[in-house]
Amino acid sequence: MAGAGLSVDSGIPDFVDIHKALPEIAHLDMNVFEISNDNIFLKDPTFAWGVYGKRMDDYRKASPHEGYYILLRWCLSKTGWWVYTSNIDQHFVRAGFPKDRVVECHRSLYEFQCAKPCCGDVWDGRDVTVDYDEATLAVNGDIPTCRHCGDAARPCTVLAVDGRWLGAYTRQQEERMDKQLADIPSHKSIVILEIGCGVQMRKI
Ligand SMILES: [Zn+2]
Repeated sequence: MAGAGLSVDSGIPDFVDIHKALPEIAHLDMNVFEISNDNIFLKDPTFAWGVYGKRMDDYRKASPHEGYYILLRWCLSKTGWWVYTSNIDQHFVRAGFPKDRVVECHRSLYEFQCAKPCCGDVWDGRDVTVDYDEATLAVNGDIPTCRHCGDAARPCTVLAVDGRWLGAYTRQQEERMDKQLADIPSHKSIVILEIGCGVQMRKI
């Protein structure tokens, strides 16, 4: 079980400290619940994509650190293991963990969905880049759009305030994990490693 703290050593800031993660817009004095909010992709998608285009670039530059590979060696020496993570950087998969053993409960920044959404489709946004001003995060060109309706797209990741996330795949993964855990004989114990997890998002 892994949270944002695990990837801090990869250079990915804890998004709870939003002003440290996004100093370019600190002067706007918006809190994490206002920026990480599904409504901004509808009300001001250009602003939203300046922020999330920057985040995607920051995440792309970061690589899984040695800790991920240590965990991978441990897991591959055992059977019946699962990774359950709220991290949206796909570092477990990038480090070599089989995708079908990783539950990303907030999915990832690299998959896209319609911001409304107009349908249930989720597509790969890994190679999408956004042209924005490095100093202000103002978008210079086009923003990513839904490949079905043409309106704004957004990352298919759970935002701090979010009633529009498409979570069907994640729920299927959770059900698969729960079923396997339920099949473990009662005389056996489950070991849970909790790494880099906090108990709540705090208001700033
Ligand atoms: Zn759409």
